Amino acid sequence: MTEAVAETVPANISDADWAAAARTIRELAAEGRVLLICHVNPDGDALGSMLGFALGLRRLGVRRMQATFPGPFEIPEPFTALPGLDLLVPEEEAYADPDLVLVFDVASESRLGALVDRVGTAGATVVLDHHASNTGFGGVNLVDATAAATSVVAEELLRRLDVPLDVEIAECLYVALATDTGSFRFDMTTPRVHEMAARLIATGLRPGEISRRIFDSRPFGAMKLFADVLGRAQLDPTAAAGHGMVWTYATLEDLDRHGQRPYVLDALIDPVRAVAEVDVAVVVKQTGDAEWAVSMRSKGAVDVSAVAVALGGGGHRLAAGFTGYGTPGDVVFSVRQQLAAHLIA
Ligand code: AMP
Ligand code: MN
Ligand code: MN
Repeated sequence: MTEAVAETVPANISDADWAAAARTIRELAAEGRVLLICHVNPDGDALGSMLGFALGLRRLGVRRMQATFPGPFEIPEPFTALPGLDLLVPEEEAYADPDLVLVFDVASESRLGALVDRVGTAGATVVLDHHASNTGFGGVNLVDATAAATSVVAEELLRRLDVPLDVEIAECLYVALATDTGSFRFDMTTPRVHEMAARLIATGLRPGEISRRIFDSRPFGAMKLFADVLGRAQLDPTAAAGHGMVWTYATLEDLDRHGQRPYVLDALIDPVRAVAEVDVAVVVKQTGDAEWAVSMRSKGAVDVSAVAVALGGGGHRLAAGFTGYGTPGDVVFSVRQQLAAHLIA
């Protein structure tokens, strides 16, 4: 194998695991019922890697197949044009005892909601993921923490199954890759990422149109909502041993007032993490009475994944989250207390 080829193959997954995954899929998918699952509140990588892989299985001739995710059956507007959406079913309709379960972009069973029981009822479970915090809950675990997105793992597994890329598979995998690299801006945007993007774009997809849809399009009401929420952001320069933190919060009432769905807030972390004076950005988003989904980002001084794990969540070193309880102030206080203990040397 040449150096150039080695560079395109995800690291950290053994040949034995790749072979076990391919063998399991070949044995069970042709005649059996296949259930693909991604994480709750699915993002571009969760949906894109899952649907891209599902379309690949369809090309292999797999007929009995469903894709699903836990929680409310709502596809964020930016992803409503993804190929393969016809394969999606609400969790209530998902096979109760599938022959094969394939899990995408899920670091731990807590991200599977009520679908977690399928890991037990399925004939076999193959996990495709790229979170360093992955707990290895599958029968076969294809986890590469150096991969920029789960779709990197999905593309390689499709290659090993001899499924050629077509423009629909490629669009799904591209949305996933673009989402998790912040549109090819983050540090994990390696030569390998650009080589994969080149293979995907070569199928004929339209990167400009896809980027506009997933990054640069939102309702007027969402812009007004962002204005309110950004307007109440607070700077905390002494947090994280002086590296500093900026934070804000959004309530269900904020969403209501502007007639917006919760997923529009996923994009709000981007303007907040742009604040130059500090390292850490935190957005606290209400999901229930005293329950909040917390998004954290670091520019490199703090391992926010470790902070998230300490608070019951997970993620990547520079992008992580958890579920917080109480008031936004309580939640941010709990983050602040953890920051100095998780500085990156
Ligand atoms: P987000 O801020 O929602 O974009 O999430 C950033 C990263 O943190 C993603 O890789 C998520 O998988 C992870 N993450 C977010 N919330 C949680 C949670 N409640 N539990 C575990 N991981 C999470
Ligand atoms: Mn994800
Ligand atoms: Mn991901």
